[in-house]
Amino acid sequence: MNIRDGYCAVMEAVAQAWAVPEKMTVSQWADLRRILSSKSSSEPGEWRTSRNPILREPMDALSDHHPCSQVTAMFASQLGKSEILNNWIGYTIDHAPAPMLVVEPTVEVMERYSKQRIEPMIDASPKLRERVPSARRRDSGNTVLLKEFAGGLLVMGGANSSASLASMPIKKLGMDEIDRYPVSLGSEGSTLKQAEQRTVTFARSKQLNASTPVRMPLDDDDQAGSQIWRKYQASSRGQYHVPCPHCGHLQPLLFEHLRWEKETDQRGVRVHRPETAVYMCQAQGCGLAMEEHHKPGMLAEVHRGGQARWVHERPWITDHLGYWASALYTPIGLGRSWADIAAEWLEACRDRSKLVTFWNLVLGLPFDDQADRMSEQELEQHAEDYPLRVVPLGYYILTAAVDVQPDRLEFLVRAWGPGERSIVIDATKLYGDPEQPTVWADLTKLRRQTFANSRGNTLRISMTAIDTGGSNTAAVYRYAREHRHDAVMAVKGSSQRKAPVLNKPNRKDMKARGEYQKHGVLLWMVGTDTAKEALFARLASWSEIPADQAEQRLVRLSKRLGSEFFREITAEVLDPHSGLFKKLRARNEALDMMVYSHAAACHPSVRVDKLSPADWVLYQQAFEPVTADLFNAPAPAQAQPSPAATQPPADTAHPPAEEGPQGLAQPPEPAAVAVSPAAMPMAPAQPAPVAPAHHAEQPADDWLGGHADDWLH
Ligand SMILES: [Zn+2]
Repeated sequence: MNIRDGYCAVMEAVAQAWAVPEKMTVSQWADLRRILSSKSSSEPGEWRTSRNPILREPMDALSDHHPCSQVTAMFASQLGKSEILNNWIGYTIDHAPAPMLVVEPTVEVMERYSKQRIEPMIDASPKLRERVPSARRRDSGNTVLLKEFAGGLLVMGGANSSASLASMPIKKLGMDEIDRYPVSLGSEGSTLKQAEQRTVTFARSKQLNASTPVRMPLDDDDQAGSQIWRKYQASSRGQYHVPCPHCGHLQPLLFEHLRWEKETDQRGVRVHRPETAVYMCQAQGCGLAMEEHHKPGMLAEVHRGGQARWVHERPWITDHLGYWASALYTPIGLGRSWADIAAEWLEACRDRSKLVTFWNLVLGLPFDDQADRMSEQELEQHAEDYPLRVVPLGYYILTAAVDVQPDRLEFLVRAWGPGERSIVIDATKLYGDPEQPTVWADLTKLRRQTFANSRGNTLRISMTAIDTGGSNTAAVYRYAREHRHDAVMAVKGSSQRKAPVLNKPNRKDMKARGEYQKHGVLLWMVGTDTAKEALFARLASWSEIPADQAEQRLVRLSKRLGSEFFREITAEVLDPHSGLFKKLRARNEALDMMVYSHAAACHPSVRVDKLSPADWVLYQQAFEPVTADLFNAPAPAQAQPSPAATQPPADTAHPPAEEGPQGLAQPPEPAAVAVSPAAMPMAPAQPAPVAPAHHAEQPADDWLGGHADDWLH
């Protein structure tokens, strides 16, 4: 027997010695001994569970003799959820002593809770006052965060402080507002798990999880998503059923069945009258309205003058009882009326931030802001299976992005067509130390490769955006400066909200190796949030476009990009509260490259976003000439070779594949073989896309280093 076991044994023995043998439930204790003070209650006096009957079953499940070990209450705000905890604390101090830990989201919240809720309860209830010595006495064992009493003690902690979650074993654990707990306490894992560890030494421990929910978790990894929702899902999933006052049919109350009158005023404007809100009975053949004044009779419990009761969706789960209640169950005079709820809903419909609050605090449900977001599995499943490194018909401009990692460069190529439609045609990794020139030389080859389309014409990359925000910033600047006339741009993500995808650049005069660089690099700021929002909206619309019409999608992805690509592209999500994107996973290179390839498409020499339909027709005529008979095809338009036209030999575009840090992670595909120019009956010469008119307009600024013509088509 180690010290901890000994401690438990003693505490349990003491607890048994002090326990009153009669089997009293928490609600019985509260009805008998809890006095509400005028300090903490709008209705001071004796506690009556029948005043708010939905609290009885969850409270009683916390009674010592009840077999259930875990109780979850996912409640709307102001519905008495914290009274479950308070009465359990009172019951424990007075009737069933044991070591108990109560946790609020922070130490500060806990201190406030102790002073404003627990201390007034102790002061107002004579039985509790007897048990807990006054804080004014020296060595009373009574502080704000610790209450000692015969046979047990109440420790109070904040989920933000590892130290405050006492290391002693706990028999009763009350966790309040768990959805507001910090996601993790460093390396020690989630607060929930850490606190739960405290109860393992007690065979018959009890745990209460209570909270109004926050947003819906996106997946199992999403620690910031609602924890109370997960707990409720794992529980018996109880809902309170009430009888219709007209037909007696038992039913749970759901917001969608609330109705109110609407009128059309003299100006023809429809006016809602939330004050007329009633609840429509869902029984077949009834359909009568339940009114606010029916509530007391409806909420009254079975065997206590009524018919209402908790009904559990999974009654076979008896060890973990779960309870969900919306504000529709609020007793008259204790909070929101149905009319208030209708009015709050109408207000929320005008303001999205209030909609989230309405969902969480009134409905007691996690808000699913990402209802139309696809998981990485769904995204991969819905992706097409087109071959990579081939430009499909309808796409005429290529942009690329480079993400710099300490051991590699990642490279993505995206093709663009009319209406800002785009398709990812390549994603590859170049392993090597970015401080060494080798990997950059490989990048130059990759950038200069050509891509064939199915008409046998080849396209080059018009612009490559390289992220300077990652590792090896100086090396990126060096490369960008050396290649500043070679369709390369240095970019940096801007945290500014609502910024355009590509902002005007700043000139960065770098000092490299102690030497002042005369030709500075232009650093382009990228509105990452704007680009991500656009990308996610386009991905979300996939669900509306069947796979056989995938060519109509605004962003197209191939399954051949690999599962990791789909994981990375869904690595971030928009937080509706802050309006900012936040990372769900550490690896998000694919998402960054989607953002930067979009920024490259907005470069003034490319301007995919500004091309007119007439411009695109010119591109189409150049790259997809209507030549039904290839043998009689007219000679392509005169080529105007640009410096970048010096093509590297095709076989060096992708160095031989080799697993491991020195090679390419992804073997080069036998791409373009079927449609490569060489395989065509008559391979046309390098096409000369006619420069759309707007390209003649040179940007006034020296954005292109005075060499714009060098790499304009
Ligand atoms: Zn009815």
